[in-house]
Order: sequence, then C-alpha cells, then structure tokens
Amino acid sequence: MPTPTLPISDTFNIIDGRLTSANWVPSPNFNARPDDTEISAIVIHNISLPPNEFEKTDARGIHYVEALFTNTLDWEAHPYFKAIEGMEVSAHLFIQRDGNVTQFVNFADRAWHAGRSSYLAQPECNDYTIGIELEGSDFQSFADAQYATLAQVIAAVYQAYPKTRRHLTGHSDIAPGRKTDPGEFFEWTRLRKMVSDLLLPS
Ligand SMILES: [Zn+2]
Repeated sequence: MPTPTLPISDTFNIIDGRLTSANWVPSPNFNARPDDTEISAIVIHNISLPPNEFEKTDARGIHYVEALFTNTLDWEAHPYFKAIEGMEVSAHLFIQRDGNVTQFVNFADRAWHAGRSSYLAQPECNDYTIGIELEGSDFQSFADAQYATLAQVIAAVYQAYPKTRRHLTGHSDIAPGRKTDPGEFFEWTRLRKMVSDLLLPS
C-alpha cells in the first residue's frame, strides 16, 4: 500500500517512541529490547479485570488494568485477583471501551505482554513486538470506539516502524494452546480494512 509522507493525523503520531494522543502512565514492567532488534510485529490482546467486567476502578479511582500494569493492584479487592497475585506484566498500549488510549511502555523498550511465544518461527515475541491490550473479553464484541482508535494507532505504528506492516497478529496466534485472546469476537477483517483506508492517499 502507498506510504503517505506526512503523519496520518496530528493526534495519532509517534514521537520518540511515544504515541502523542495517549495518556502516559509509565509501568515499571519493561526492559531493553535486545541489541539490534527491530520492531517488526504488533500483537493484539484483550484484558478485563475482573474477567468480563469493564471500566472497573479501585478505591483510588484507578482503572484495575492500569493498577495491574503499574504493580499497584490490590490483590484483596476481588477473589480473581488472588489468582494473578504478584504478576508483573505490561503492554505498550491499553485501549479502553470508549477508545481512550494509555501508553505504559515506550515503544523502544520491551513490554511484558506475550510470555512464551513464537511468531513466524521467531521466539520471544516481547523482544520485537508492540503489545496492544484492548479492554474486552473472549465472549463479547469490542466497541466501535476501540476499532477507531486501534486502526489509527496501527496506521501510526506502520508509519513509524515499517517492518511491522503486514505483521499484525493476536496473542492466541503466537501462544496457541496457552492463550485465547483477542478471541473470536475480534473483527480482524474490519480492522484491516479500516487501517488500509487510513493509509490510502486522500
Ligand atoms: Zn494476551
């Protein structure tokens, strides 16, 4: 597909590894990508805390997913949280149901989202991918606002990191048998069409 020379939008632009439209909430859960590793794929996930519940916040008013990614989740706040107690995880981006996007890890750094994984026979996907979590579950449709944001984000990532083009995958594809997200309700064809439409010259 043709490559525009200008950013596709002023708001969804990537400067110094940061998405300009995102809220920046740094996570301690990251490390350096291995030397000479090029960002070359995007991994889509879903997450909800507690599972299948959306927009839940803790006593401070902090979204539970944000609390998890910043190691401040109160493990006592819900019975499910005991099952994940002590987990240190992150993603580069988290897109809420209303399309609001938060960035937790600079794209230049390695976020901890994929776990044991392999894409096109290349293991350790965290090393070379950008991880995007959508607030959602395997059992519910995603929101229109999430597709709108995600399409803009992916178009911006394709522009900033051209090796990611055509390497858009899901957690269940890189960790089959172990992970099921983003799940059967995730509309890949719709997303790909929205991204291509954004990248076509107007
Ligand atoms: Zn996942």
